[in-house]
Amino acid sequence: MMSVFDHIEFDRHEEVVFFHRPECGLKAIVAIHNTHRGPALGGVRMYPYRSDADALQDVLRLSKGMTYKSAISALPLGGGKSVIIGDPRSDKSAELFEAFGACLDTLAGRYIAAEDSGTTVQDLEIIASKTAHISGVGERETEDGAIVDGDPSPATAYGVFMGIQAAVKHRLQCESLSGIKVAVQGAGAVGSRLVQHLTQAGAEITVADIYSERAVAVAEQFNAKVVDCEQVYDEVTDVFSPCALGAVLNEKSIPRIKAKIVAGAANNQLASMADMDMLAQHGVLYVPDFAINAGGVIDIASFRAGLTYEQGMQQVAGIYQTVTRILECADREGATTLAVAQQLAEADLRS
Ligand code: NAD
Repeated sequence: MMSVFDHIEFDRHEEVVFFHRPECGLKAIVAIHNTHRGPALGGVRMYPYRSDADALQDVLRLSKGMTYKSAISALPLGGGKSVIIGDPRSDKSAELFEAFGACLDTLAGRYIAAEDSGTTVQDLEIIASKTAHISGVGERETEDGAIVDGDPSPATAYGVFMGIQAAVKHRLQCESLSGIKVAVQGAGAVGSRLVQHLTQAGAEITVADIYSERAVAVAEQFNAKVVDCEQVYDEVTDVFSPCALGAVLNEKSIPRIKAKIVAGAANNQLASMADMDMLAQHGVLYVPDFAINAGGVIDIASFRAGLTYEQGMQQVAGIYQTVTRILECADREGATTLAVAQQLAEADLRS
């Protein structure tokens, strides 16, 4: 029998709640890792997990990552996450999201939901019809009159762009990204916007996606080169930017990575802690995922605080300083970047 408390990823979770509403096919898990800094904020992931155990493992890992993400970014938020077990292409219905909203409402604001892989602003709006404990919905007007919705992906992409600049400055002593070669894995919501920022800054881009037409569309728009998904690790570049899935840094991929820096949006990029040491042994500078991909949650926090869109983006730009602080501290202490980032986040949680 699966034990939740003994689960290797349980690691001091405050609350883990399983919701089942058979009448609409809802099976969901909400994990609240830590509320020391504020309510636990995290996205709603919808994914056709092979087993309940896989869903539990995913939600626990992601939830703890959100605690670190908010702490390292000094946000007044804790860490949590939720997963809906189902295929986002075929299992979505208004009833399912309404039922999920009613379930979230019972948590009385200890967990605040946002978009994540498999859910959209429209899905969140349905959830919001049953609970007020939602973010990532609602619109803001920019200074030049454009309307932006609650989708966190543009802010995440901008934050990753700032983090890449900090890592390039630190490792390659380059102030500019002009001529810097970057391989982007995943041409989705974040990856495609990241490619736009990078090309505007003069970087040379290689892009890969399992849906090759997405990679081709981004490459055509931004004059990038498309590479096969399997070959993206072998590309001779300055930066490898994982913007697709977790666990892509593992014992098989790391020996193949030619880039000097790994810096991307994906959550839980390392398959295991041992992979951090392996990256360091290979001389690859790893920018911890929860520090560099915090742009979306920083933007959400700024929205909740009533800041303007531009003020929110200024806060997202602070990822440059956060990443620099981690990399400098790791050099000083002779520790891995991941160990330093985790220590900084933990120290913040204790304070
Ligand atoms: P997305 O689903 O829009 O894009 C992911 C892309 O990766 C898709 O186009 C998909 O086809 C592609 N992909 C999947 N497997 C691949 C593989 N093996 N090789 C190459 N491409 C592959 O997701 P997104 O919103 O762009 O998020 C990207 C990553 O960043 C995810 O891991 C997500 O959890 C993480 N993240 C996203 C945000 C955000 O604001 N959207 C915030 C923090 C972290």
